[in-house]
Amino acid sequence: MYIELLGYSILALFIIIIVFLVLRSVVLWYWKIDHVVSTLDEINRSLKLLIGKEKDEEMSNSSSKIKYDSKGRWTCPKCGYLNDSFRKDCFDCKYNIIKEI
Ligand SMILES: [Zn+2]
Repeated sequence: MYIELLGYSILALFIIIIVFLVLRSVVLWYWKIDHVVSTLDEINRSLKLLIGKEKDEEMSNSSSKIKYDSKGRWTCPKCGYLNDSFRKDCFDCKYNIIKEI
């Protein structure tokens, strides 16, 4: 009698779990939750890629701003002063090329 009751309750629990899983997948399909989650993941990935690309572009832009001549002298991107090659700061406006690269 007791063992029979235990068997029935285990069976009932099993059926409840199956019904729950089936209803869960129906609800996910009906409200398109799976689709929304995958779309959000894709948006996240795209945004991360975009942010990475922008950082790279900023880096290349700041380093390309400084123009060097044949003797290694560089033109300050801030004030246009032509600095000697040994200078790391602009003689005129103290613009630092190390910080900017
Ligand atoms: Zn300068």
